Amino acid sequence: MASEDKKPKAACFDGEAARSLVKELRGTFDAGKTKSYEWRVSQLKSLLKLTKDHEDDIIDALRSDLSKPVLEAFVSEIAMLKSSCEFTLKQLKRWMVPEKVKTSITTFPSSAEIVPEPLGIVLVISAWNYPFLLSLDPVIGAIAAGNAVVLKPSEIAPATSSLLAKLLGEYMDSSAVKVIEGAVPETSALLEQKWDKIFYTGNGKVGSIVLAAAAKHLTPVSLELGGKCPVIVDSNINLITTARRIIAGKWGMNNGQACISADHIITTKDFAPKLIDALKVELVKFYGNDPLASEDLSRIVSSNHFARVTKLLDDDKVSGKIVHGGQKDQSNLKIAPTILLDVPEDSLIMNEEIFGPLLPIVTVDNLEDSFNIINSGEKPLAAYLFTNNKKLKEAFVRNVSAGGLLINDVALHITNPYLPFGGVGESGIGSYHGRFSFDTFTHKKAVLYRSFTGDASARYPPYTLGKLRLLKALLSGNILGIIRALLGW
Ligand code: NAD
Repeated sequence: MASEDKKPKAACFDGEAARSLVKELRGTFDAGKTKSYEWRVSQLKSLLKLTKDHEDDIIDALRSDLSKPVLEAFVSEIAMLKSSCEFTLKQLKRWMVPEKVKTSITTFPSSAEIVPEPLGIVLVISAWNYPFLLSLDPVIGAIAAGNAVVLKPSEIAPATSSLLAKLLGEYMDSSAVKVIEGAVPETSALLEQKWDKIFYTGNGKVGSIVLAAAAKHLTPVSLELGGKCPVIVDSNINLITTARRIIAGKWGMNNGQACISADHIITTKDFAPKLIDALKVELVKFYGNDPLASEDLSRIVSSNHFARVTKLLDDDKVSGKIVHGGQKDQSNLKIAPTILLDVPEDSLIMNEEIFGPLLPIVTVDNLEDSFNIINSGEKPLAAYLFTNNKKLKEAFVRNVSAGGLLINDVALHITNPYLPFGGVGESGIGSYHGRFSFDTFTHKKAVLYRSFTGDASARYPPYTLGKLRLLKALLSGNILGIIRALLGW
């Protein structure tokens, strides 16, 4: 049963409860408990153990929330989380070391360093589509950086939300790591409080609400938002591999309910029929002739989202445009992989993030026109290009602005912990993954050390012409000028 069809729990987490939660966490943080390397490591190890011990429970929760296929649940939620945690545990000591930096003539003699400092108490608000990974991956960064943290999972994935609350309560230090379950009232109560950082994953409309709430307290935010991720397909490609990778990056990712899944394809008029044929053949190989019965496709998360996605198909402007699929089963919240060709620019499907199993194909005369199409819209979280043409790849990287780019595949860039993951413009603020997660929850404190030697009298009054000459020479690195000024010539 979809989460929105269930009777909502009575709200019990109000402003008063939020204030006392923040007070407790601030007490823990101010006592310095979360700052030591040992505490951070013990918490990260507990998170890893929790994930390993409860693999089956996590898979069951994801099946209940989304009928997520076991393989997808394992690879894209459990394995990704484990690898993020292991990578952080391996690197953490190095990340925590202050970085020595150069000094300038103005402070000679001196030494300087950048000291990473935890921000304090942080709020992580996460989304329903990868409800395990997207909840805990930011928590890894927050803990690694030495913060106390409150996680608010998505109420749209209630089984995972309650599993997270239970398991974090059992495995983590409850004086510093908390889970608050709930929907808008609970999140609003949390947002009224003063945090030292808010990390939000979800849609842009709520992103604005989070940003406005944070502004009241001058709290920094990371907003991991979405958008329409385009896939440009050239004719100079390996067609079968391209089709398979597009399918994996669309329907193989939560049946299109992923922020970086392929939103639409842009290709040339001539090439579109060949691409469509290849997609159809591979789709049938993967999901059979009755995809609604396939165990390898997630369902749509809720009846509200089912209505949202079907509305895109029911738009008069796309009538007759379906070239593959289109079947739906409201009782099981299933929609088949569906391809549409040449949808008009002003159709709903081309003006909203699809976030579901529909894949429109837009055709152009010249592939380089696609760069202008992409750049004239809201900046996407990811943009993809399939080609063997070196010049086209270079032009794509130089000209297309998006959170991230990937050439000859879909979505896999997020598995590289050395790359930042985040949006630009409408697709988000800030980034995380690997070292970038640690940095996101860290203040880089500038520290300069001086001794009592080298106390140049030129900086003190009375301000004479001789002192001015000396300072000018010093600041421009003019050795002769320095000697002249010192000798009074
Ligand atoms: P959602 O409905 O789960 O909402 C996200 C969070 O916002 C939830 O915890 C929810 O309780 C909270 N929320 C909802 N309304 C609120 C309100 N009025 N005030 C305060 N909090 C509120 O998830 P969603 O927004 O449907 O997620 C889908 C969107 O998220 C898509 O746009 C997708 O692209 C984006 N997304 C981005 C990423 C990323 O990493 N960049 C990942 C997943 C999803």
